[in-house]
Parts: sequence; C-alpha cells; structure tokens
Amino acid sequence: MRVTVISPLIYTYGAMLISGVLRDAGYDVTLRRDLDAGDADVVLLSLYSTMHLLDGKIRSFVRSRHDRGATTYAGGPVSAYPEIVMGELDLDAVVVGEGEETVIRLLDEGVAGDLDGIAYREGGEVSITPPARHAPMERPLPLIPDDIGGQSIRGANVYVETHRGCIGACTFCQVPRFFGRTIRSRSIADVLAEVRAFRDKGVRRISISGGTGSLYGYSDGTFNTTAFVELLEGMAEVMGNRNVSSPDIRVDCINDEILEAIRRYTIGWIFFGIESGSDRILRLMGKGVTTDQVVDAVSACRRHDLKVAGSFITGYPTETDEEYQETKDLIEALSPDDVFVSAAEPIPGTPLADLVLKTPDEENPAFVRHTGDYRSLNLMENEARAFDLMMHADLFKPGLHVVTAEVFDSYLNEARGQGRDIRAVSDLLFRYGDHVG
Ligand code: SF4
Repeated sequence: MRVTVISPLIYTYGAMLISGVLRDAGYDVTLRRDLDAGDADVVLLSLYSTMHLLDGKIRSFVRSRHDRGATTYAGGPVSAYPEIVMGELDLDAVVVGEGEETVIRLLDEGVAGDLDGIAYREGGEVSITPPARHAPMERPLPLIPDDIGGQSIRGANVYVETHRGCIGACTFCQVPRFFGRTIRSRSIADVLAEVRAFRDKGVRRISISGGTGSLYGYSDGTFNTTAFVELLEGMAEVMGNRNVSSPDIRVDCINDEILEAIRRYTIGWIFFGIESGSDRILRLMGKGVTTDQVVDAVSACRRHDLKVAGSFITGYPTETDEEYQETKDLIEALSPDDVFVSAAEPIPGTPLADLVLKTPDEENPAFVRHTGDYRSLNLMENEARAFDLMMHADLFKPGLHVVTAEVFDSYLNEARGQGRDIRAVSDLLFRYGDHVG
C-alpha cells in the first residue's frame, strides 16, 4: 500500500517518526510538506496546530479526497481533541494520542470499533475508542527527507525527541495532557544513532524538542543530571558543540551541572518559559514557580555565562493592566537576551481552553477592544499587550536595538496575526463547548 504522510509546511519530528514506523512496517511511504497526495492509496495528515483545522486549503484537500472516496486519516497533536478534528475535517479517522502502534493497525485492518486510540464516524456520529497504550520508546529511525537541511525552525533544522512527558501542569500546554506527567526517556544510544542519521542527511543544527530538556532520565521524582549531561556531550560529539541547542527548560529544573553542560556542549543559550511577571497569573497558569525563582534562575544562567531567552504570554484571561505591568517590570529587571511573546492561545482540551469557555468576553483580553495608547491601531487588548511587550523587551535587551519602522510593522503584524488566530481558535471552542459569552 502506498501512503503519503503530509506535515504541512514543516517536517515535524513526529511526522518523520510515523513515516519511519510505516516504512519499517513495509509500507511504501512518501513524506511531504505540501498538500499533494501523489499516487497514494492513503493519506495521513500530521497536524500540529489547531489552525490547520481552519485552514481553507487543508479543508478543501480533505473534502476533495472524501468526495472521491479516497481515504484520509489525521494524527498529531490535534488528535488531543478528536471530536473537533472529526467535526471540522471530512476524515475517515483520527489516530488519537501516540500513534506509532495504532497507525499500523489502522492501515492493516482499517477502521474498526475494536481498535483502541481512534476516532471515526459511525451512523453520523463521531465515536472515540478507548485510549491506546503509550507507544514504546524504542523505535525505528525516522524517515528523513533529503531536503531536511533546508528547513529552519527557530534556527534548528530539526528537533529530536529525547523523552516524553512533563512533570509540569501549565494550563496552556498540551505536553502533559498528550504524553502524561511521567517521564519516559529514550536510551542515549538510540538518540545518538538518530542524531547521526540526521547529520548524514544534511542537518547542521539540531535541537532537543519541546518540554523540559533536563527532565531527560528523570524518574521517581529524581533528576538524572548525569544522563542529561551525557546526552548533550554525545550530541555535541556528533554535531559539534555549536550546532546543538537545548531549549525550553523550566526554571526549577536546573542546577550548576546542567547549566555548565549547556554552556559547554550547546550554542550557549537557555530558553525559559517565564510567561508572566505576576505571581497571581503564574498560579492561574499552573506554572508551579514564582517570579522569585525566575529571577534566581536567570542569575544562575548569567553566572554560567549563558544567554537567556524567555517566552512570555500576554492577555491571559482576567489579566489586569497592573499584572501586565508586572510582566514589563520583570523584563526590565531581567534584561533577557531574547524574548518570545505570545498572546494566550486556548488549545482545545487544555485547562486554559476551559477557562476561556467560562470567562465572560468582557474579562477576556482577546475580546476586549484596546482603548489605551495604541487605540489608533485598532487592536484587541491581548494584541496591544503582545505588541507593546515585543517593543518593550527590545528596550531592555543587552546591546542597542532600534525599533525601526520595519521592526514596528513586523511586531504589529505578528500581534495582529496572533490575535486573529486566537479569536478563530476561541470561536472553534465556543462551537464545541458551553461558552458563558
Ligand atoms: S513546563 Fe513546559 S512542557 Fe511542561 S507543562 Fe509547562 S509549558 Fe508544558
């Protein structure tokens, strides 16, 4: 059987992994980034953003296949909310959760009510079978496309998965819901074999994928710093020290050894999800850390001569002007070397999505018109705060940063785009859930 796996716009690690699993199971697999099924008998869409469900091109691609009687399945992070995926796209089935085992059975046996881990249509209704068990951490090599070296995601060609799960419970994040809160780590030998395979296919910069890198090897409430250090050292031996990065670490998941290893074996950056300067908002987000811990963690990084990037979320439901100001004050105090700003996006199935459903529109900055300094720009409050914070962060980055007209426009477009997407995702939520309005 010929299978085309489509991962829109970028080759995600998950799409390459599933393609490798199918290849080793004997399927004739092609992995693509564009919406071209080729001569496939079955298309498997690997969808990693809620916005894919609202994308006109993806919707018409799936509809036209459906109208021709061609089989299309979907999987990936969006499978965490299968009712919405099935409701929005004319798919034959969704592979729910970790799909490595389910997808083989689905292709071998077809859609069936006794196949765990799928959503499908039955008598006009969407049926969801019981969750499949977690996939084993031993796996075949991913199917690596020849042009992988040409893609760049935040500077890396590819993000490899070293473990699954997160001990955190951040309300806006899918990771603990999708993979669970128990950490399951791969063997160092397996990860390094994969890193070598990526390098041999032209990958020059490799990164550890989302979650918290230093949770690698974590077990029974105990960090395994040695394992994390060995992992970074091994990756650096294959790729070269300056071609490895280890982003996204919780501020409470570091120690001196971890920071020193990041300095020695990576590009020398650490990325913290700081999110807010308000302790009330951090509690509401379920971050499990305080702003004091953030300040201490950033100081520790500076002692180890690391550059620090921080991600921040603006416009969390019920965030007040004063709380937003606390975030600006924290950025001023920390002077991060780089800053990523996002307006809060309610990914379906997360506690944040539940909160958005329960929050009256007039208390949700995504739906409140901004009446402050930027009123002439016609922004929503979450957009205005995101835009303002991007510019504010530039003022406090080390070195001179001039907000040119071009930079101003790019920040404004970014904030507007985020606001548009968040309203679209919120509207999707409202269609499938009970919104107080
Ligand atoms: S620490 Fe990071 S990966 Fe873990 S739940 Fe929070 S945001 Fe998600």
